[in-house]
Amino acid sequence: MLRLTFLGTSAAQPTIHRNLTGHALRRERELFLVDCGEGSQRQMIRFGTGFDVAAIFFTHFHADHYLGAIGFLRTLSMAGRTEPLDLYGPRPARRLLEVMLFTGTERLAFEVRIHEVAPGEAVRRDGCEMRAFQTDHRTPSVGWALVEDARPGRFHPDRALAAGVPRGDQWGALQHGRAVTVAGGRTVRPEDVLDAPRRGRIVVLSGDTRPCPGTVEAARGADLLVHDCTFGDGEQPRALETFHATAREAGRVAREAGVARLVLTHLSTRYDREWQPLLDQAREEFPGPVEVASDGLTLELPLPD
Ligand SMILES: [Zn+2]
Ligand SMILES: [Zn+2]
Repeated sequence: MLRLTFLGTSAAQPTIHRNLTGHALRRERELFLVDCGEGSQRQMIRFGTGFDVAAIFFTHFHADHYLGAIGFLRTLSMAGRTEPLDLYGPRPARRLLEVMLFTGTERLAFEVRIHEVAPGEAVRRDGCEMRAFQTDHRTPSVGWALVEDARPGRFHPDRALAAGVPRGDQWGALQHGRAVTVAGGRTVRPEDVLDAPRRGRIVVLSGDTRPCPGTVEAARGADLLVHDCTFGDGEQPRALETFHATAREAGRVAREAGVARLVLTHLSTRYDREWQPLLDQAREEFPGPVEVASDGLTLELPLPD
């Protein structure tokens, strides 16, 4: 399973319809948050993401992307969490998040581990990596790419039998990438009975950024790109000034990277309910499927063949 839920899709300030930025990304048994704006925990309840968060990945430390973690950590503590929680983000993650741990007079009931990451670093998780990539914002920032491990290629029982490997434990060994020895002392290698490994899924979240090569590189061939879309064509100067992207620019990044699907988020309040032009502008640049995220939008990504 790989499921992304948008907890908030508004830039800088919340509106009636849109909360501040937050994403819940569930992959198999692990739940990650990417950014955690104010109000994220209530959105998690609304949209049923669960609270069993394994780690929080921050893109940068503008207040609209991380203040929600203060209250959320208190809730987890009151709920009796004991497992440690890992927080990852660019500098000054340590300085800002450490303060947050002591906000409120009660101590947290679980350990919080703060990790400052630089672009290019990857966080190893079960069956996947979260890779921090360089973005271009007004403050130190990264985007996050969830990159699943490759899966073994398809197993061909007929080839195994023809090679003299009987059905049983040795089939499992081959499927797990180990060579086996058959009667007569001959070695059968995994590649004799398996197709080439199949790639895993890639989900890329740009965070706040100008269009930049870091995102294009990280999103190359991605199943899904979620990109900053704070402005439309009419606000291009504002986008430059504030280091955000327009819908058109997000569309270009998606096209250059050759992603399968683009979702636009982090909308300026002026587009709160009038986002159709953003969609049109992105579509002029990117031929694939595009949508404008709304709070609660939940995307399931199927495994590629
Ligand atoms: Zn923002
Ligand atoms: Zn920002």
